[in-house]
Amino acid sequence: MEKAGLEKGISILGLEELYQEIILDHYKKPRHPGRLDGGHVEVRHYNPVCGDELTVGLRLDGDRVADVAVQGSGCSISQASASVMTEQVLGRPVPEALEVAEGFRRLMHGEGEPDEDLLGDGVAFAGVAKYPVRVKCALLGWMAFKDATARALAGHDGGETVYRENGDAAAAAKAQRLPGEA
Ligand code: ZN
Repeated sequence: MEKAGLEKGISILGLEELYQEIILDHYKKPRHPGRLDGGHVEVRHYNPVCGDELTVGLRLDGDRVADVAVQGSGCSISQASASVMTEQVLGRPVPEALEVAEGFRRLMHGEGEPDEDLLGDGVAFAGVAKYPVRVKCALLGWMAFKDATARALAGHDGGETVYRENGDAAAAAKAQRLPGEA
């Protein structure tokens, strides 16, 4: 019995390390970086609490996500999560892509079990739910995608969104570094 418990402990630790590696990999090698050319909607989202910013470009073909790109700066959680977002929404019909975004939002609020079929590498961010202020970092790219989608469907141009917080929240964000985070 003791041995089984020990093995379980090791496998959980292994999973956390794997998740950290996945996040770091997306941070170092964002999957769809840069800006789009031609007709597209572009939104900028800022999370001043942590100093994260993202420019998300989106082109729809009918109701399909034909192209998506992210240019940004900020913490590894915000940048890596946005990279995962591009991977998970590209090529999908919009309703399906929004379903993935909603699944990620639920994961960040600790609702339900991580669903790898739906979220792909997004499951690696499950631990962020324990750091409430950092949830904003993880959600930034997904919120920007939802915003860009809504604007594109409504036939509007891009825009800017700033998520404002008070000074205490900013200090809390700086204190909430995840294990292994640079
Ligand atoms: Zn951040």
